[in-house]
Amino acid sequence: LHRLAPARLHALEQIWAVLPEARLVGGVVRDLMVGRAIADVDLAVPQPPEEVMQGLKAQGITVVPTGLAHGTVTAVIDSAPYEITTLRRDVETDGRHAVVCWTDNWQEDAARRDFTINAMSCDSTGAVHDYFGGQQDLAEGTVRFVGDVTLRIQEDALRILRFFRFWGRYGQGRADAQAMQAITAQAALLNGLSVERVWSELKRILAGPKAQDVVYLMQQAGILPVLLPEGANVPLFARLMAFNPPADALLRLAALVPNKSADMARRLKFSRAEAARLKAMQAEPVPLPKMSDAQLRHLLADTPPDILAARSWLHQARYSDVLGEELRQRLAQLEIPVFPIAGRDLLEAGCQPGPHVGQVLKDVRNWWQQGGCSADKQACLAYALELVKALP
Ligand code: ATP
Ligand code: MG
Repeated sequence: LHRLAPARLHALEQIWAVLPEARLVGGVVRDLMVGRAIADVDLAVPQPPEEVMQGLKAQGITVVPTGLAHGTVTAVIDSAPYEITTLRRDVETDGRHAVVCWTDNWQEDAARRDFTINAMSCDSTGAVHDYFGGQQDLAEGTVRFVGDVTLRIQEDALRILRFFRFWGRYGQGRADAQAMQAITAQAALLNGLSVERVWSELKRILAGPKAQDVVYLMQQAGILPVLLPEGANVPLFARLMAFNPPADALLRLAALVPNKSADMARRLKFSRAEAARLKAMQAEPVPLPKMSDAQLRHLLADTPPDILAARSWLHQARYSDVLGEELRQRLAQLEIPVFPIAGRDLLEAGCQPGPHVGQVLKDVRNWWQQGGCSADKQACLAYALELVKALP
C-alpha cells in the first residue's frame, strides 16, 4: 500500500473508515506488485450497493450510482473516482452479458475474474488475498485463466483478446499451453463479439508492449483469420516493428492489414476520424529522404506531419532500403505553412456566396502551394478576387 500516491492512500483511508472490509481488487493489486503505474483504483465490498451509498454519504463523501444494476457505485474524493463494487457471483452467462447476484464470499468474486493475476485482492492492512496463485503467476510471467479455460472463453470470448493483451504486458517465455489450445479450438467465438469491444482490445494490443510478439502469438493460435478476415500481413507488420515505430495503433494496423483496410474500418465500426486517419496513412504521396525542404513543405501543406511520418514508416517497412529516421526528424522540424485565407475572407471582400467560392479557394490554394506557400493573406486575397472577376 505504501506504493500508492499519498493522496490516493488518504482517499482510501476515508473509504476504509466507512467500509473497513473493502478491498482493492483487480488491476490495482497486480500493478502495485510489479511497480507499474496505477490506472484506476477499484474496490470491492461484501455489502449491497445501497448500503455502500448510504454509509459513504453519511460521512459526507460524494457518491455517484454509476452502475447500480451490476453493483457499482463511485466515490469521488479530491475529484478522483473510486469504483466500489459489491461482491458478485455469476448466475448464468450467454457469452455477452453476465447475470450476477451479490455475495459476501471473496473467493466467489475472485473466481469470476479472468486471469489469476487479475483475481487478487488487498485489504486495508495491506494483506494480499490470492486464491488462485496469481502472485506466483505474475512473478513467473504466466497469464493463466481462473478455472476451466474452455468454459471461461465460452462465457466471454473477449477473454481471448484480453489474454493476448495481458500476455504482452506481463508474460514471459512460452504462453500457457492450455490457454493456447482452448483459444485455437474456440477462435470462431470471436465472431459473436460486438465489434466495438473487439476493436477496443485490438487497439490496446497493437499500441501495447511487445506488440510484435503478441501478433506472432495470435498467429500461432490461429485467430488472425477470424480477427482480421481482410488478411493480416504479419511479415510486413514485423518489418515495421523492427524499426521501432511509435505506439500508434492505427499506424501499426496499417502495416498489419495493408489491403482492404477500408472494409476493415467499416466492419469494426471505426470512428470517422479513425477511418480517415487510417486511409490517409496508406495514401500517396510518400515523403522521401531525398526530397528538399521545399518539397516536404509542399506535402505538409496538405497533410499533417503525423500522417506523413506514418507514410514514411510504412514505406520503410515495405522497402527497407529507405532510411526514414532522418526524414521524420526533418518533417518534425519543418514549420507547417497555414493557408492564410478561408471562404469567410472572400465573402467579407465582397464576393457573392455560392458554389464558386469553394472552387476559387481551391485554385488559390494550388497557386499558393506552387509558389512555395510564401504568399501572405493579402496576396492570396488579391489573387482570389482576380479569379472571381474572371468568372463568367
Ligand atoms: P488495465 O490496467 O488494463 O485497466 P485491469 O485489470 O484494470 O487492467 P479492466 O479491464 O479495467 O482491467 O478490468 C478490471 C478487472 O475486472 C480485471 O482485473 C478483472 O479482474 C476483471 N475483468 C475485466 N474484464 C473481465 C472479463 N471480460 N472477464 C472476467 N473478468 C474481467
Ligand atoms: Mg482497469
